[in-house]
Amino acid sequence: MFSNLSDKLDKALHILKGHGKITEVNVADTLKEVRRALLDADVNFKIAKDFTTTVKEKAMGQNVLTSLQPGQLMVKLVKDELTELMGGEEVGINLSGTPTVILMSGLQGSGKTTFSGKLANFLKTKKGKKPLLVACDIYRPAAINQLHVVGDQIGVEVYSEPENKDAVAIAQNAIKHAKANGFNVVIVDTAGRLAIDEQMMNEIANVHKAITPHETLFVVDSMTGQDAVNTAKAFNDRLNFDGVILTKLDGDTRGGAALTIKSVVNKPIKFIGTGEKMEAIDIFYPSRMADRILGMGDVVSLVERAQEQYDEEEARKLQKKIAKNEFGFDDFLSQIQQIKKMGNMKDLVGMIPGAGKALKDVEIEDDAFKHIEAIIHSMTPLERTKPTVIDGKRKIRIAKGSGTKVEQVNQLMKQFDQMSKMMKMMQGGGGKNLARMMGG
Ligand code: GDP
Repeated sequence: MFSNLSDKLDKALHILKGHGKITEVNVADTLKEVRRALLDADVNFKIAKDFTTTVKEKAMGQNVLTSLQPGQLMVKLVKDELTELMGGEEVGINLSGTPTVILMSGLQGSGKTTFSGKLANFLKTKKGKKPLLVACDIYRPAAINQLHVVGDQIGVEVYSEPENKDAVAIAQNAIKHAKANGFNVVIVDTAGRLAIDEQMMNEIANVHKAITPHETLFVVDSMTGQDAVNTAKAFNDRLNFDGVILTKLDGDTRGGAALTIKSVVNKPIKFIGTGEKMEAIDIFYPSRMADRILGMGDVVSLVERAQEQYDEEEARKLQKKIAKNEFGFDDFLSQIQQIKKMGNMKDLVGMIPGAGKALKDVEIEDDAFKHIEAIIHSMTPLERTKPTVIDGKRKIRIAKGSGTKVEQVNQLMKQFDQMSKMMKMMQGGGGKNLARMMGG
């Protein structure tokens, strides 16, 4: 995420390292580079200029008051300003209605339908809601089907009227249906066009007026940079929406949209999309995002994701198995699956402080566990529960079956062995064994 911007800011902030004091000259040098970094990230000129002016004023003002090193001070000031630029505090969505009506707007291809599904899934699994998805695209039958596919995937009902060409009526009928059937959130996915046009704007404005949503969300593809900001402006002028959803932040986006949308439309970014899967949705926290941009990682989000996946029941079962020496490859596989649920590897590594920078030239496979899973899937049930039976002949068969090499199978066996030993030590005797293992 924003690796280019992170790199450039890092270089800019390095200028002050080693300087004992903030001076007019070294601040100016640093901020010149900061401004360049922002412009390269597709932040518009005026915003980049205001940004550096504010940081400069604060830096000069705080010069004598702080015990921080100039380098640290500047990192802090830039971080605070980035946070401010992206909206300051996070802003949630209003779920007060019965049902809560959420209208989705945005151009075709922005990720509206995908996000509608993600949001429904998020509200269902994290907030205990019963959402209804509504297909209001009266032009593209494929769009209606797409929403049905998404709904099936996450187990959420989809309301559609394929023959009806009146978007307002469909939305109104859907809300009636929701009221009659106990749905407490209605998410209305509307028709998008490839570019802004009057007819589309009128249509969505009419739907908006007729159903008076509690939340109108504008979905925008972060890869489109300044265009994203212009589109946001056009939609906001018509709909006066409540919040922005930035999608495709998992791609190689420069960051301009995330950094400027708030100050252009004065509406908060509420969620981000970080992948094609239904789980790839995150609440947008400006401060955490600023940390990530500055390579400071995002430990809070990492821990939260780990906690979400932590299943006490499973953990207890696992402990028992380890104690009885029954930890096998199936358990190993389910551990991997838990990690995978936390998100894609690139994303996770980016949350570890310093790791993003250190590993920036290392190719991280999106599916880093692909080989391991293939190898385990090629094992027989006996081999999985009793790995000691795996001899040379079996290894050759497993390698063939999984399209890997015997060395890879060996490597996995070794990793598995180490992991089982380690788990056993951590459990039996706890700290004492661990201390012995560490040479204590
Ligand atoms: P719509 O026309 O606005 O409804 O857009 P879609 O929901 O159909 O999304 C357009 C394309 O973008 C699809 O191929 C989605 O899988 C993809 N997409 C949506 N959100 C994301 C995201 O956060 N990350 C990535 N990488 N792809 C996304």
